[in-house]
Amino acid sequence: MEILKVENLCKQYGKGENKVTALDNVSFTVNKGEFVAIVGASGSGKSTLIKLILKEEEPTSGNIIINGKDTTFLKQSRVPYLRRSMGIVFQDFRLLPDKTVYENVAFAQRIVETPVSEIRRNVPAILATVGLAGKYKAKTKQLSGGEQQRVAIARALINSPAVLLADEPSGNLDSHNRDEIHRLFFELRERLGQTIVIVTHDEHLAAMADRTITMSDGTVR
Ligand code: ADP
Repeated sequence: MEILKVENLCKQYGKGENKVTALDNVSFTVNKGEFVAIVGASGSGKSTLIKLILKEEEPTSGNIIINGKDTTFLKQSRVPYLRRSMGIVFQDFRLLPDKTVYENVAFAQRIVETPVSEIRRNVPAILATVGLAGKYKAKTKQLSGGEQQRVAIARALINSPAVLLADEPSGNLDSHNRDEIHRLFFELRERLGQTIVIVTHDEHLAAMADRTITMSDGTVR
């Protein structure tokens, strides 16, 4: 079953002499339960691809289909719902530093109006999944980088997203924490069958994926 389908995607910035082609006819498919790494040199179009998938920007042409729904013609007012079907993890974690681990993760459920009784059940379960069961009362600013990224991954997973999307998730971590986060992604795919798409420069992380998509000058080889 296809979870993410990118068809003939093109993105150009600027006009005339200033025109830059960031994506040039990119197509690929990610199936349910696959762990895919998107790799490529700086400037090859990886960030542009992520921005288009999140609908932070519009493609010049082409289509992105998520869970069977073509997002190309989605109204702006529906974009928050689209983003909720994706779990998103960033290099810089993007947590609420003065809130606890529990509150950071619970927040993602409150915005989709999950009943409190379910939140109380779900948050400890997902924190156990990412190896943070004992830390729920800690403020996220007191945690190590690796722990903070685990909180971000728990937050991304709590609403059972169709796809977990991560942009350089280990880019800010030391080698020990980096290895642990890599192992966690691998386990999520093994144990939960989670569909995962990661943009990374890290060869070790890419090697753990089922498949690598290599971008080069805005194209997929
Ligand atoms: P990567 O993430 O692989 O480093 P990007 O998607 O950031 O690559 O960039 C792809 C190309 O598009 C580069 O040539 C970059 O300079 C250009 N680009 C990206 N964003 C913009 C923008 N907002 N305006 C103009 N050019 C851009």
